[in-house]
Amino acid sequence: MPFNIAIDGPAGAGKSTIAKKVAEQLKYIYVDTGAMYRAMALYMLNKGIDPSDSETVAKECDGADISIKYIDGLQCVFLNGENVNDKIRTNEVSDAASKTSTVKEVRRKLVHLQQELAKSTDVVMDGRDIGTAVLPAADLKIYMTASSRVRARRRYDELTAKGVSCRLVDIEKEIIERDERDMNREESPLKQAEDAILLDTSDMTIEEVASAILALKSEREV
Ligand code: C5P
Repeated sequence: MPFNIAIDGPAGAGKSTIAKKVAEQLKYIYVDTGAMYRAMALYMLNKGIDPSDSETVAKECDGADISIKYIDGLQCVFLNGENVNDKIRTNEVSDAASKTSTVKEVRRKLVHLQQELAKSTDVVMDGRDIGTAVLPAADLKIYMTASSRVRARRRYDELTAKGVSCRLVDIEKEIIERDERDMNREESPLKQAEDAILLDTSDMTIEEVASAILALKSEREV
């Protein structure tokens, strides 16, 4: 039986950085489910569809063929045959993804893909609903969070390091709006699974968080 680790939490809590690190150490596959929702949002934007128009998004989502491939250990998301990794990290796509991801038909399609990936492989999977809906029987569930100010600061540092000019206050506002939508939607809202372990990373380094998860994983194996 594969060992599945589920990591959920709000935007900017450090999930992907940590999940990637933990997967690398364990030689597991890292599955970034947010990237799949982002690819779906990109599909809608490319078609000129308003991400808030749930009815049209539901009707059109079957036209998006989303798949995952690993190239040199890196997860690449393909949208209708095109590697879209470089196109899904913009603010516009972040915002659109948090809207299109509220649509039941979108979730059904992507959750299926995620479950298939975890069925036969040891994975560290991060997202919003992994412990509650995608892998409810995961061997280890983590709910990772941090204050909105700390999360905004991390995104700000990431963006400015890439040369993107932005304001911390705007990023914090966007993060809070995105959390609101993710936590209050009807379909699989972001929430801590009952059996998930809460990790507040506000005052922890990446190494500390990764070590904490690896220690929990070793405990589970005994
Ligand atoms: O994790 P990331 O910020 O890349 O996710 C982008 C958006 O995709 C989130 O704001 C959320 O609305 C959606 N998402 C989701 N369920 C997941 C992963 C991401 O609804 N499992």
